[in-house]
Amino acid sequence: MNLVRHWANLVFVCGFVCYVIIRHVFEKRAKVKKSISSRSGLLEKLLIATLSLGIFFLPVLYLFTGILAFADYRANNYVQWCGGVVMLLSLWLFWRSHVDLGPNFSMTLEIKEDHELVTNGVYRYVRHPMYASIWLWAAAQAMLLQNWVAGLAALITFAPMYFARIPREEAMMADTFQEEYNEYKSHTGRVFPRFL
Ligand code: SAH
Repeated sequence: MNLVRHWANLVFVCGFVCYVIIRHVFEKRAKVKKSISSRSGLLEKLLIATLSLGIFFLPVLYLFTGILAFADYRANNYVQWCGGVVMLLSLWLFWRSHVDLGPNFSMTLEIKEDHELVTNGVYRYVRHPMYASIWLWAAAQAMLLQNWVAGLAALITFAPMYFARIPREEAMMADTFQEEYNEYKSHTGRVFPRFL
């Protein structure tokens, strides 16, 4: 079984467990605020299903079965060490953005009752830190899993979700918060922090 064949695979699984725990804890806390409008439809569901394939199902196939063995390769240990560091950074940013967004968080595009525009914490510098943390996660997955299919799966499956969601999310926020959001947008980066 690939899981125990290389330390990097175990690091990936531990990171994944932390990722799921963070999401679970904060999703539960965010339920205190009810949704008052939603822009999630079939497209949104398809994009989430596609991402689940890349971030969960293909890594599971690689780690626990031999189905993806045709795409295995051997990488330098140095690449996996970098992957471990990027994974820690991703987990920190994922946690921090959940803390800062608090009850305004939702899995899909929603506006909640008493929704507040968060402009503090990591949101002071970047509008989409949670998506930035998923890009970092996807990069870490590519560095940790030595399999072309499972390794690159998150990078490939997150791209459509990211590019389809950002304009719709920003339009929803601008419709809700109007000038306040446009002003916020003018001095923050999309996924790269802007400090000036
Ligand atoms: N795109 C953000 C948040 C992802 S969670 C990030 O990557 O960090 C998605 C929900 O967060 C959306 O439905 C939206 O209602 C909410 N949201 C996004 N940016 C926000 C902000 N600055 N303040 C409050 N809520 C926000």
